[in-house]
Amino acid sequence: ENRPVAGGKRVLLAAPRGYCAGVDRAVIAVEKALENFGAPVYVRKQIVHNIHVVSTLEQKGAIFVDDVGEVPVGARVVFSAHGVSPAVVRGAADRQLQTIDATCPLVTKVHREAMRFARDDFEILLIGHAGHEEVEGTMGHAPERTTLVNSPADVANIVVKNPDNLVWLSQTTLSVDETMETVRLLRERFPTLQNPPSDDICYATQNRQVAIKKVAQDADLVIVVGSANSSNTVRLVDVALEYGAAAAYRVDYASEIRQEWLDGVNTVGVTSGASVPEVLVQQVLDDLADAGYGDVSQVVTAEEDLMFSLPKELRKDAAGNP
Ligand code: SF4
Repeated sequence: ENRPVAGGKRVLLAAPRGYCAGVDRAVIAVEKALENFGAPVYVRKQIVHNIHVVSTLEQKGAIFVDDVGEVPVGARVVFSAHGVSPAVVRGAADRQLQTIDATCPLVTKVHREAMRFARDDFEILLIGHAGHEEVEGTMGHAPERTTLVNSPADVANIVVKNPDNLVWLSQTTLSVDETMETVRLLRERFPTLQNPPSDDICYATQNRQVAIKKVAQDADLVIVVGSANSSNTVRLVDVALEYGAAAAYRVDYASEIRQEWLDGVNTVGVTSGASVPEVLVQQVLDDLADAGYGDVSQVVTAEEDLMFSLPKELRKDAAGNP
């Protein structure tokens, strides 16, 4: 085992980090679709929010589009891990598209909660980031009954029809602490506000935040690998700063690490978002080793073994037909 030398340069590597079960499944779904049906396979939106994953799949024949209207009539399209609203499903049906739904089951769970609470005449306060694909998909399941709450600062301005008939739900990839603060403020205004039946912030988001909190306490610098539009990745930067890292930066690739970030730094914390392949973390560790930070210890705060079965359109049926 690598024992850090007192005052020596070292890396603390957070675990869990990187791929979650929903991302793994979504990426494999596109790969399988390409394998089973041949290129091109259309994908609505980035399958997961990672530049490297998207460009790798593009090279294999995936075509990413923003809208199902861009997919040729009758062609095959994969819905991304972030989920879609019923309007998108209807749009795809209108074009006779053959759909493969790679929505993460933990996002689908939130969709079901939204539909159920809407059916039971609740008003839903959805905590999440405006414009994020997951938020658009979830709101689309109960458009008349959902109000978006962007941040704790937003709470004072929320307008509801009936303050006694409210439930909060959330995006799956938020900061747990900030969300709890938003809920606390919401409950101050609306004391009978109901909680969701179970956590909407998913296990992967929570586990990665717990791990980086532990690492950040001892880190002079934290490097988070992941893309700028990845919500859970950006939250890891926020959480690292909140929990004591003197500095924290997000990079897509190791080549983005700047020499001056390492000035006077003994301990570098490293983690990665839920959409980030481990090879990108390895490149960061290699570059850090070249800069004298070859002593790497893992900080493990949880073990993960969750796996989801592939979207049903890609599972073989009992007769062995694809
Ligand atoms: Fe699913 Fe969570 Fe991964 Fe999103 S981050 S794909 S909700 S497991």
